[in-house]
Amino acid sequence: MLRVTVWNENIHDKKDSVRAVYPDGIHGAVAAAVKELDDVKVDIATLDQPECGLPDDVLGNTDVLIWWGHVAHHEVPDELAWKVREHVNKGMGFIALHSAHLSKPFKLLMGTSCSLRWRDKEYERVWCVNPGHPIAEGIPPFFELEREEMYGEFFDIPHPESLVFLGWFRGGEVFRSGCCWTRGLGKVFYFQPGHETDNSLNNPHVRKIIRNAVRWAAPANRREKLDCPNPIPAEEMVRHGMDIGWY
Ligand code: ZN
Repeated sequence: MLRVTVWNENIHDKKDSVRAVYPDGIHGAVAAAVKELDDVKVDIATLDQPECGLPDDVLGNTDVLIWWGHVAHHEVPDELAWKVREHVNKGMGFIALHSAHLSKPFKLLMGTSCSLRWRDKEYERVWCVNPGHPIAEGIPPFFELEREEMYGEFFDIPHPESLVFLGWFRGGEVFRSGCCWTRGLGKVFYFQPGHETDNSLNNPHVRKIIRNAVRWAAPANRREKLDCPNPIPAEEMVRHGMDIGWY
């Protein structure tokens, strides 16, 4: 049984314009997509819950954490971001969707600014540039999103270990839309579609990619302790003032 936690800041989701697209919230749409896997337990966690919905026991019992955030990245405590990073290093999978490129956990895992160009209300063609990759299973050579937010290069990320999707926009921009990394024992996937007022998270290809990514990111070998010298726990990072400090 795969244990997936879908985290959403759940702020846009209270507006009518977003409810019209995602009546159960962005988290609801993502969770519904993941639940189409037959051996999965999906839980939802949101910013407004105690401990942001991610107390230690939840993180410790999550195989893959999916993250959507946009306007409240700064409200996520630094210590939680460090904890997510620690769990990824020990093997937990992490999937950052759309504007989670600026979330604290993703930026910590990348170590770069993760900034990019953007423009709203665009047409996107998502090209599969790595058809042999497990996340591309069942995905055609390209698919179209009639309306999505343009994210463009330069996307300030470390060079992906695998690039699976490339987005092309009507304005001529291209973007590394589906990128993979490993961090410690954990796998990280960034996927660009998923703007709050567009419909991409209901697109069957997008939903299939999220499911494929969950399977790909699931830990093969999660460890309680890392077998490396001197691992620094999250609370130590915070105590020593190693705050994220990029906001
Ligand atoms: Zn957006």
